[in-house]
Amino acid sequence: EPYLTSNFLISSSKISQLPDPAFPEYAFVGRSNVGKSSLINMLTGRKDLAKTSGRPGKTQLINHFSIAPAGDKEEVAWYLVDLPGYGYARVSKTLKAEFQKLIMPFLEKRESLMCVFVLIDARHTPQEVDMDFMERLGTKGIPFAMIFTKADKLKPKPLEENIAKYNARMLEIWEELPTQYVSSSESGLGRVEILNFIDETNKL
Ligand code: GDP
Repeated sequence: EPYLTSNFLISSSKISQLPDPAFPEYAFVGRSNVGKSSLINMLTGRKDLAKTSGRPGKTQLINHFSIAPAGDKEEVAWYLVDLPGYGYARVSKTLKAEFQKLIMPFLEKRESLMCVFVLIDARHTPQEVDMDFMERLGTKGIPFAMIFTKADKLKPKPLEENIAKYNARMLEIWEELPTQYVSSSESGLGRVEILNFIDETNKL
């Protein structure tokens, strides 16, 4: 009963390879192993649409998927953009440079980009690499929302505490918190909320 029809479109290693910005785009990004592939597969109802990032050290790619309402393959509603993971401890200098050369320019200049979903592993207290990344998005005026992933791995209390710690840090930088979701790729938690947010944003 897939609710969406999703198709892989293109992998771009250069800005010049990107598809035309013909549809509203929603990008997913986070540290390697945050659960990004699992979340994308959960949202689209596909088992292996997004491949797990695996070992770092490969060329970084921007992966575009076209998303249409179920059974309506012709009518693309939006593009899902799978961005490479950042902040992996062992990631090489070259890869960090690629992130600067490819991902940041994409985020800063892409006219069809509606929102960046920044994935945060709900098990962790605030990580500097995530805080730095969100601060950069905010400074550049790039709209973003947070998704706390792997919620099923925590009991409600520690989950709430970790989110509260993030929010305390966020409020040191900004007056308002960004939109936030809690997700589990195991249980499907957050799916309806995130997809509704995308639908609502598309109507604006
Ligand atoms: P990526 O590197 O960000 O694409 O992360 P993956 O989607 O490959 O997930 C990394 C690991 O975390 C895998 O072993 C997943 O099975 C696991 N994982 C991802 N999401 C969840 C989740 O919501 N709940 C649980 N329990 N495990 C998850």
